[in-house]
Amino acid sequence: MTGKQKLPEVSLRTEELDKCVNCGMCQAVCPTFIVKGHEGLTARGKIELLKRLLNNTLEPSKSIADLFDDCLTCYACQSVCQAGVKTERLWTASRQDLGKYSTTGRIKHLGLNWTVGKPKLFNLEVGLFGILAGFNRNNPASARLGKYSLPIYCGAPYLKHLHNDYPPMGKEVGSVGLLLGCSVNLSTPWVADAVILLLNAAGWRVIIPKDQVCCGAPAINNACWDIAKRLAKNNLKVFNKLGVDRITSSDATCAGAFKYDYKELFFNDDEVLPVVSKFADMTVDLSTLLSEAYDDDRIEFDAYKAVVTLHDSCHVTNVGGGSRWLELLSAIDELEIKELKDSEHCCGFGGSYAFFHNDTSFKIAERKMQRVVESGAEQVLVGSPGCLLRLQSVVNNNFDRDIKVRHVSELLAEAIINK
Ligand code: SF4
Ligand code: SF4
Repeated sequence: MTGKQKLPEVSLRTEELDKCVNCGMCQAVCPTFIVKGHEGLTARGKIELLKRLLNNTLEPSKSIADLFDDCLTCYACQSVCQAGVKTERLWTASRQDLGKYSTTGRIKHLGLNWTVGKPKLFNLEVGLFGILAGFNRNNPASARLGKYSLPIYCGAPYLKHLHNDYPPMGKEVGSVGLLLGCSVNLSTPWVADAVILLLNAAGWRVIIPKDQVCCGAPAINNACWDIAKRLAKNNLKVFNKLGVDRITSSDATCAGAFKYDYKELFFNDDEVLPVVSKFADMTVDLSTLLSEAYDDDRIEFDAYKAVVTLHDSCHVTNVGGGSRWLELLSAIDELEIKELKDSEHCCGFGGSYAFFHNDTSFKIAERKMQRVVESGAEQVLVGSPGCLLRLQSVVNNNFDRDIKVRHVSELLAEAIINK
């Protein structure tokens, strides 16, 4: 078998491999390398492996496939790479090519297909789980999977409790379609309430289509592209027919999937790509939408006394060029914002990574919480509900200090002056 036959998807992206100059800058920011110390986990190490597979000096194997599976797809390596290697184009393509050598890869495909891949069934599964567990939305206990805590409130999915249309509080500036995101829909519904309130206060009419489905990020990241394409096409249809001016999400990762990942997913599909590109142009990160409102004097904040630090979403930081949460937080009087060391390092969640690599994920999250303690903050505000779930599980498990983990929207919603 030729290298191209072994790695058909990576073969379409070899220009990214060629850019690597072997400098090793990516090593210092790779959370899995920091915890495990294995060079094969870094971007440089994986690129070397791909080159050898392509030139036939190495054969694909389970141990190689497992190295590619042991990656958070946080893309800190891409963000730091001076040579411009777009690792977001390489890691999922590698998983697609090497998936057949990995038991985990096959389990993930099966698991995703019978959960998010079948939205109606998924809602039933989650609803049933919530009822059996009997968790209260306002006091969600946690289901433990090792050290991973997953609160699911009874009454999930939250989507069915929401209205279709939330009118703005003041003068309407336009309409925005809101993608909830699975973590919010199932585990952190209070984040959706905060986001709707903020958008309404900013003059946006919020439209929530009930037939929206998972953004597909878990399937994209795990190279279950058949499932991801199905979900993406469903969302394209659902959101296109709304006729809204903008699209955003209460989960930065999901907005990132709409804005960046779909383009890569359909990069060689001439029919779908133009639709996806239009869709991507309409999608705006929530912090940007709110910052624009602040700049236009459409929102203002009361004083809010607290000591906080910010851990932002990897997707926004490393793929989207950064969020504008700090600008908004800085506009609040009496709010003390502490610097977070290694703030660009992932919290360890990584979607399904937290389930399949729970120990490593937990160690990475512990390290993040240690940095939060060192910062002196009482609250860590996060950009993505996935980070909230992961960091909260560390607090639940072994942190005696009572640090609050919250989505940044929660604090902003408490501080905003409703006009
Ligand atoms: S930082 Fe970029 S160029 Fe340097 S080793 Fe890593 S991937 Fe290669
Ligand atoms: S995406 Fe994150 S975990 Fe994966 S190689 Fe890059 S820095 Fe390491």
